Amino acid sequence: MTTILIHSNVLNFEQSKVIERTFGKPFKIDNHYRIHVKNRPSNETISQLAESIQADVNVLPEDFNAKEIKLVISDMDSTLISIECVDEIADFINVKPEVSAITEAAMRGELDFEASLVKRVALLTGLDTSALQQVFDERLTLNPGAKTWIKGLHKSGIKFALVSGGFTFFTERLHTQLKLDFSRANLLGEAQGKLTGEVIGGIIGAQAKADFLHELCEQLEIQPNQVIAVGDGANDLLMMHAAGLSVAYHAKPAVQQQAMTCLNHRGLDAILDFIA
Ligand SMILES: [Mg+2]
Repeated sequence: MTTILIHSNVLNFEQSKVIERTFGKPFKIDNHYRIHVKNRPSNETISQLAESIQADVNVLPEDFNAKEIKLVISDMDSTLISIECVDEIADFINVKPEVSAITEAAMRGELDFEASLVKRVALLTGLDTSALQQVFDERLTLNPGAKTWIKGLHKSGIKFALVSGGFTFFTERLHTQLKLDFSRANLLGEAQGKLTGEVIGGIIGAQAKADFLHELCEQLEIQPNQVIAVGDGANDLLMMHAAGLSVAYHAKPAVQQQAMTCLNHRGLDAILDFIA
């Protein structure tokens, strides 16, 4: 049996009719609707339904067991938060257009992430480090549903790890603010109150994100199939492939194509639907 999720709290008459015509009558669990069908529908059928009802529709993988989930690992920039931190930092040294063009291409998977990060951080050389605090205070906002999501996971005894190709300055503050369990990101070099334009230590790229997932599995004594991985960029794909369930959150096309599930309408709290 296959389970289809419709990530919507309410369905209007038209939406219900379309769903019933396609799969049968849905039933409600918490904040979403479900339908059980005999055979797994094609991706085309799913995306057609999502398109016609303008809501997120996902199919649970056959072997997915919600009760076994013990860890969620999430990307930060454009996933947990609505900005790309590096682009906003760049704005303070007037190189935002150059930096965000590189970020955009890297997230689409057109550039090697590690090399692209080195290039972007080099463009920040000499910037006063107070710009980082300003970005955090004035520009960083959580994506919709973030707090509900994290609270809901903790209530279910599921740990939360934040992993970012961005910077520890931001992950560490969010770690404290949101009472996260684990976090990892890149460390920006600083000297005399200015950015040196270098990343200290190994770069957290695609492979390092996947490695973090495996490392946490060992530490928590769980298997990768007990993990949900969430991301939006090409550098999240290795980590997403390693997990039991992958969620592409308002993601780049290449990420949506390779993820098991996608959210393009709802906020982060809809990820709780998978474990309801
Ligand atoms: Mg991202």
